[in-house]
Amino acid sequence: MNDIHLKNVSKHFGSLKALNDITFTIPKSSVTVLLGPSGCGKTTMMRIIAGLEEPTSGQVFFDDLEATNVPTRRRNIGMVFQYPVIYKGTSVRRNLELPLLSEKLSKDEITKRVDEVAELLGITEHLKAQVDELDNGTRQKIAVGREVARQPRIILFDEPITNIDITAKLELKRSLKELFSRLKQTIIYVTHDQTEAMTLADQIALMKDGSIMQCDSPSEIYKNPKSEFAGWFLGNPGMNFVVDKFINVKGNDIGSALFSQSIPLGAKAAQVKTLGVRAEGISVSNSQTPGSVSARILSKSLGTGGQYLLNLAYGDLTVKARVPHYLGRQLENNVWTTVANENVMFFDDAGNAV
Ligand code: ATP
Repeated sequence: MNDIHLKNVSKHFGSLKALNDITFTIPKSSVTVLLGPSGCGKTTMMRIIAGLEEPTSGQVFFDDLEATNVPTRRRNIGMVFQYPVIYKGTSVRRNLELPLLSEKLSKDEITKRVDEVAELLGITEHLKAQVDELDNGTRQKIAVGREVARQPRIILFDEPITNIDITAKLELKRSLKELFSRLKQTIIYVTHDQTEAMTLADQIALMKDGSIMQCDSPSEIYKNPKSEFAGWFLGNPGMNFVVDKFINVKGNDIGSALFSQSIPLGAKAAQVKTLGVRAEGISVSNSQTPGSVSARILSKSLGTGGQYLLNLAYGDLTVKARVPHYLGRQLENNVWTTVANENVMFFDDAGNAV
């Protein structure tokens, strides 16, 4: 179990800067998810932590010990990949035992570890089965079990759910969530899927173009994105943005078609170029309420969890609002909406929160 520190780590592939001067700590015994769009540098960062890639500059520390040039086999790391790494033509138990045979453990210890890990992953009933008989979600659980049973200090997961059949995905995600809550290892998990990150992470490191844009707990990064990018990337749908042509700044007050009254912002008002509001930050009613403004429903669709997603127009400004099922069913044509001041975020020209 180690804290992992990256200090000024950069990685260049020729002229391409895959990682730009990253300084960042991954706390021990917790789950850190590296999240971001394709090509942002997640896998490169993970490979550097694993010792599979050398940084162009910068250092990696496991606690206080520098690991930058320590070979992978001496880092005591487990790795789970997109496709399950298992031995076909053998039983599940044998698959879980094999990595332990080179660890000089007693037969009893091996059996104990295999039984424990099978129980943790809910695959005890399959121990005698041949791996070839199982679906690929269960095979991925076996691949996870093989790494967990070795008891490495750090376990890296590189998009382990991405290539699993849609039917097995949910069960595997649920199983990993349960597993992570019981493991003491430092877990680093790479994904481009924000729902997976929100479900599994203790902290999310949100990456873009080789940099970490924000590193926070899932709820913090969702509620207080430090950039428009974070507001857009986290959430389904992402945050609504109201760009400057729909904003009126008068002195220190900010107004838009979303509000009946402008919001006093103090001296920061001059910096604001964009407003951000989450879909659930817009309160919708079918009758006029104090301070509400009217909006037109352009479309409505049933979203996850039975809630309705409305596409609303305020003149030329369009935003998405989320409403409970019972209300969404009744709404048609025009609605009345309010947005509490605390549900509005403000961003500057560079897309950073102000
Ligand atoms: P994905 O989700 O698509 O795997 P990622 O966020 O993991 O993306 P990386 O695989 O780390 O991104 O790649 C970051 C950038 O570095 C990309 O532009 C990629 O093409 C480039 N890259 C990665 N490995 C190499 C390599 N060995 N040689 C050249 N370029 C590379």
